[in-house]
This record gives sequence, C-alpha cells and structure tokens, in this order.
Amino acid sequence: MENKNMLMIPGPTPVPEAVLLAMAKAPIGHRTGAFSKVIAELTENLKWLHQTSGDVLMLTASGTGAMEAGIINFLSPGDRVLVGDNGKFGERWAKVAKAYGLNVDVIKAEWGKPLDPEAFTAKLTEDKEKAIKAVIITHSETSTGVLNDLESINKAVKDHGEALIIVDAVTSLGAYHIPIDEWGLDVVGSGSQKGYMIPPGLGFVSVSQKAWKAYETAKLPRFYLDLGKYKKATDEDSSPFTPPVNLMYGLQASLQMMRREGLAAIFARHQRLTKMTRAGMRALDLPLYAADSWASTAITAVAPTLVDAEKIRSTLNKKFDIAVAGGQDHLKGKIFRIGHLGFASERDILTVIAAIEATLIELGVEGVTPGAGVAAAASVMVQG
Ligand SMILES: *Cc1c(COP(=O)(O)O)cnc(C)c1O
Repeated sequence: MENKNMLMIPGPTPVPEAVLLAMAKAPIGHRTGAFSKVIAELTENLKWLHQTSGDVLMLTASGTGAMEAGIINFLSPGDRVLVGDNGKFGERWAKVAKAYGLNVDVIKAEWGKPLDPEAFTAKLTEDKEKAIKAVIITHSETSTGVLNDLESINKAVKDHGEALIIVDAVTSLGAYHIPIDEWGLDVVGSGSQKGYMIPPGLGFVSVSQKAWKAYETAKLPRFYLDLGKYKKATDEDSSPFTPPVNLMYGLQASLQMMRREGLAAIFARHQRLTKMTRAGMRALDLPLYAADSWASTAITAVAPTLVDAEKIRSTLNKKFDIAVAGGQDHLKGKIFRIGHLGFASERDILTVIAAIEATLIELGVEGVTPGAGVAAAASVMVQG
C-alpha cells in the first residue's frame, strides 16, 4: 500500500512526527544568536544522553565519518592499535586504521560470537613497552546482532594505562546503558539515523580528557574532521562549518522526547523489545543467530533453516510493507535482521511477528501455529 512503509531496519530508523515537524521549519543562519541557543541546548542534552560531562561533538557525517574522526584525531602514523573484528563494522574500523597507516593488530571472533575480552587482556599485558596506543571496538555489531562485552574489554584497556579506548556505539548509544564517564571511555562514536530517532546526516563523537591529551601530539592528517575545531566552536555554542540546521531542529525535538522518557526507561524499553522479538522467533522455531547472553538490544538476527531468509524479507516487504534488513556478505540469504532501535514500540514488534507468521505460512513452511509468535511476545510484554 502506498505510504504505509514500516521501517524495521537498523538505520535509518523511524522518525517521530514531532521530529519531522520540527525539521520542516525554515532554516535560519547558523551564526545567529537564535541558533547558538539551539546548539547550547543540543550540547547539554547530548551530554545527558552520553552520561558524560566531557565533550560531545556534532559532525555533518554518517556514523562512519564520526568513527573516522574518532580514530584519526588521536593517533600518529605507525601507531600500534588493536581492533576487534567480529562482523562488518569491526572489519571496517580495521580498514580505516590501515588506510591511515596505523599498525593494525586485529582480534577476530567468528560472526555471531562476541569478542573475547581475554584476547585483549593477553595482548595488552604482553605490551610492556606500551606501544599499543588505542583499542578500537564495536559495541553492538549490527551485522550479526551481537553485543560485545565493552565493560570487560575496557577494564583490560584501563589496566594497560596507555591505550585509549575508541568505541563504535552507533547501535548501542540510546539503546543500552553506556556510562561514559564512570567507565572512562575515551572516544565514543554514533550516528543520527540509529538510536537518535532522526534521519541520517549527523555523526557524534564524545572525547575524554585523556583523548584530548593524545590529540595534542597526534600527527595523522586532519582538516574537516579535526575535532579540535569542533571543540573550540562548541565551547562557544557554535560550529566550525555550516551544520545541517534543519536536522538539528529535529535533534532538538528528539532529545527533548528522550529526556521526557528518561534514560532508564529507554534502556528498559529496548530490553523488552529485544526479549519480545526473541520469544516470538523461538515460538516460531526460527533460530536466533546470536545467543541470549550477548544479544544486541538494537537488532535481532534470525537464521531460518527451512526457507531462504531473502524470501521472508521480500514477502514481508511486498505483502506487509515492512522493511527488515538482510544478511551482509556470506550471511546474505542466511539471516534477516529485525531492527528495534530508537522510535520502536511493543506495537511494532507484535506487528512484525504477526507478519512473519503469515509470511511463513504463505511460503509453505509446515508446522507453523498461527498466533504462536505473537502469544509468546505478548506474554513477555505482560511479564515486563
Ligand atoms: C550504521 C552503523 C555504523 C555507521 O554506518 P553509516 O552508514 O556510516 O552511518 C557504524 N557502526 C555500526 C555498528 C552501525 O550499525
């Protein structure tokens, strides 16, 4: 049906009407007093969302740009870095680090499995000369629905003392508790089209005091992504270059919505939606790609055995106007991924599960009890 599309992909995510209306305002000059007030409010609310009193900077970039900025501002050519790779995004940060001439040591785990914190501890304790300058990890690996154990890996980094921890929190920020100051996370990158409930186009990077120290001596080339420029401007409620003014009006509305809901409630909602989704898939005998103990709260990857995942995906699209994501690389056709990040509610989950039930029946999968998935999810919802 026309104009009835339901986005359940891990970005872009659905955008609330209040945000869309806020973005429909006529743009104003970004060097005006009125817009300075907007930047000041955004900065304050971003710090709240990041649970930090440190800097949170806004870039006109997607999440990859935010991460690239997070990597290149604090390191010098030839610096040794450890990169965790258990999916598409971990792989990408290793490529970025290599592109900039860093000396990259990759710690891998199988797709669908979490990174092993012990592997980081081992490399970091061996490094007596403190040659490792940064550890780069993806918290929620969107390609597989795996949530890596950031807290434990960060402890290993803190024991090392020298290395910075640089975190891709693109699908965990606003979906999972990440106490940046309490844990001492140095650099945390995220992007607007994920947990922020606004369209793509803005990237965010939080920067610790320790990272700013490293910035002073870091020698990798930087210009547009030079975070020092963003800090200087942000401290004056301004921006170094022309920012996406209308997107920032949207962000203003979405951060206000988030503050009204509260961080604890936002995290609890994401947990609940994750549990509902997983219960629904189990009740339909659809295997989950990542185990419960390391399930991302942003995305659930499902690995059907009796029918091609792409068939499920295209039927959901054609019959129900529901967009779920497919598998990437070798997982194409093997998994489909249900996004439940940002502006997502129980109603969305019940709907997608009901549509998956009908899809399985339509595709001739035997032994599907109509309503079984929805019943399981509803029962999780009621129990909380
Ligand atoms: C979406 C995403 C990114 C950023 O991708 P962009 O397309 O550049 O916004 C980075 N990391 C993870 C884990 C993501 O899900």
